[in-house]
Amino acid sequence: MSLMLYNDLTRKKEPFVPLKEGEVSFYSCGPTVYDYFHIGNARPFIVFDVLRRWLEHLGYKVTFVQNFTDIDDKMIHRAHREGTTVPELAERFIAEYRKDAKALGIRPPTVAPRATENVPEIVATIQRIMDNGHAYVSSGDVYFDVRSWPKYGTLCRQGLDDLEAGARVEVGEKKRDPLDFALWKAEKPGEPAWDSPWGRGRPGWHIECSAMSSKYLGETIDIHSGGVDLVFPHHENEIAQSEAANGKPFVRYWLHNGFLLIDSEKMSKSLGNFLTARAALEKYPPLALRFFMLSAHYRSPINFAPSGLEQAASGVTRLRNCRSDLDFAAKNRQSDESDLDPAAFQAKMKRLEGRFADAMNDDFNTAAALGVLFDVVHLVNTTLKDHETLPRAFFETAKAALKTYDDVLGVIGPDEAESEEGGDQEVERLIAERLAARKAKDFARSDEIRAQLKERGIILEDTPQGTKWKREL
Ligand code: AMP
Ligand code: ZN
Repeated sequence: MSLMLYNDLTRKKEPFVPLKEGEVSFYSCGPTVYDYFHIGNARPFIVFDVLRRWLEHLGYKVTFVQNFTDIDDKMIHRAHREGTTVPELAERFIAEYRKDAKALGIRPPTVAPRATENVPEIVATIQRIMDNGHAYVSSGDVYFDVRSWPKYGTLCRQGLDDLEAGARVEVGEKKRDPLDFALWKAEKPGEPAWDSPWGRGRPGWHIECSAMSSKYLGETIDIHSGGVDLVFPHHENEIAQSEAANGKPFVRYWLHNGFLLIDSEKMSKSLGNFLTARAALEKYPPLALRFFMLSAHYRSPINFAPSGLEQAASGVTRLRNCRSDLDFAAKNRQSDESDLDPAAFQAKMKRLEGRFADAMNDDFNTAAALGVLFDVVHLVNTTLKDHETLPRAFFETAKAALKTYDDVLGVIGPDEAESEEGGDQEVERLIAERLAARKAKDFARSDEIRAQLKERGIILEDTPQGTKWKREL
């Protein structure tokens, strides 16, 4: 099966065919950097990181752009409250974003542009929209003229009149129509501002994504993603802006993740029911958080609850144990005299690889892909159990498979046996010392070493083949 993606533009699962053969242009709306991001925001960052990895696994050259919104009302208010400047606030929370994203195993985007570094491109995009007759100036602000764009509402599937009925009309509006939205906002005292043909001011929120998407990826891109709350108005506005400016279709596949819920409600800053990713990372192992996010289909809602996180943590432990059991057996039970037929094992693994690919190709169904990964673990574990010794080819196939799956999902983490840090040698040395102490019946010393290692998060297990060790999550 080739890759199928559910496209919110057509509301259908469609075969994925990129514009340029072998290449994918992918834009994902990034965070507004006025605070730490919460674990609900982490959902798109994690799931679309996995989609990007899968596309790379399929051999595409992916250009993945995720922006930082570093100027908007929230940025300005927070900077005022903290007695700092908007650029300082942005710098601080971009650094914090990167720390948490790294801890969650999210790979840095190919490009991570900031709105404030792209003001000339934003101004030029607004100018083109205006030249094409779809924007107007009103007291130093510039608005998109929604009524001049009949296709408005295509993505959210609502007609202009329905949208109009739901729009808020505010007193003292400078807009001609309640549906119109700001492309440029005139300078207010104490706020950051840039020069423009319409006077000093700053960009509206939506325009940055249109400008940066075409700057870094071209006027028509393959994939654009974000949370489902961005469908309207943000993405609807992006389409209107980009197409009004460029006269070309903007995005070929629109992908939106479902909400992360807490007590059945959307986790959000405004409801106050949020847990920052930073706080979640203190409470739960990063791999468990990642596993948890991938345990549901990205378009379904997912409920953030301790039981789900515990299940995720035990899932990760099972995966890690399988790999450390493999490493241990490779050291102690490898023999080409083994009665295991490596070709038969490889054939079974190949079938599982096909099922994994089918799951990921089916609108990147990570929940099903994790299920296949556990079938792989089951096959490896039973093979380890059923054979006294195992051939080199078995270990190579099994370890390579786990590595390939983990390159896509990132839920198993680094392999301690292959780590080059001195830490492992130290562990091995202590294990050898403990073994010597046990031989000499110095059980006090042996217990002391076990406790010392436990303190460092290392668990020992004595087996007939010797002492196995693994790191706690
Ligand atoms: P923001 O910084 O608010 O623009 O949000 C960054 C990303 O997180 C956007 O793609 C939002 O759609 C997404 N998002 C916000 N809250 C949630 C949630 N509770 N569950 C899933 N995604 C969310
Ligand atoms: Zn955006």
